[in-house]
Amino acid sequence: MKLFKYIALRVKKYLNAFLHLFYPKICLHCGSTDIIKFQVLCPNCHAQLPFTDFFEIENNNVDKIFWGRLAAGPSGAVLFFTKNSIVQLLLFELKYKQNKRAGLLLGNMIGWALKKASRFNKIDFLIPIPVRKITERTRGYNQSLLLCEGIAQVFPIPILPTVLFKNKKTNTQTRKDRIERGHNTTLLFGLKNTDQIYNKHLLLVDDIITTGATAESAGRCLLQAKPASIQFAAAAYTLS
Ligand SMILES: [Zn+2]
Repeated sequence: MKLFKYIALRVKKYLNAFLHLFYPKICLHCGSTDIIKFQVLCPNCHAQLPFTDFFEIENNNVDKIFWGRLAAGPSGAVLFFTKNSIVQLLLFELKYKQNKRAGLLLGNMIGWALKKASRFNKIDFLIPIPVRKITERTRGYNQSLLLCEGIAQVFPIPILPTVLFKNKKTNTQTRKDRIERGHNTTLLFGLKNTDQIYNKHLLLVDDIITTGATAESAGRCLLQAKPASIQFAAAAYTLS
């Protein structure tokens, strides 16, 4: 037994040292060692994050994106995205640096915002916007699913990652304007196990919302299964 404990301790020690190699315990943005939650940002950088407060505001900019395009319920994004900002850094780490902690932190922020806002009192399931299988394999995960996991850590709602899936690449998605893309929505996403979401309140989750084309396509696809409502949450919002 003693030997077992000894081995377990040694393994833990090496594992920590190994993880430290890849995840040095410093602030991603300024390099400070004064790090907080998930060891991503120091309190100083965290305090500089540009929160939108959209979740609490009716008819906010994200709500407006869906007007006339998708019968979406309350929607929001937690942070403003700007170039060369801490928000851009967090999203870059999430998408291209396999930094799961950045994703969980952003997910937590969405979760806290949802908890605070009374507009979001009916959510049965979190639905991550899917990425293609090949992207998921390269990245190691779907970033929207990671955001959902971060949300669920602070606002426990079940995640349904298997209902909505992304179809293989079509040549219709680039260099098309929003209207043209709207006509091709059924090509982007597919549905399975639709009975799980029938008459349920869904919260679609994505990392960033700009024109809303992806969210609109995913939302339209989900509507085929007749859910009670589709709401939308993103980590960041940016003007198109
Ligand atoms: Zn910092």
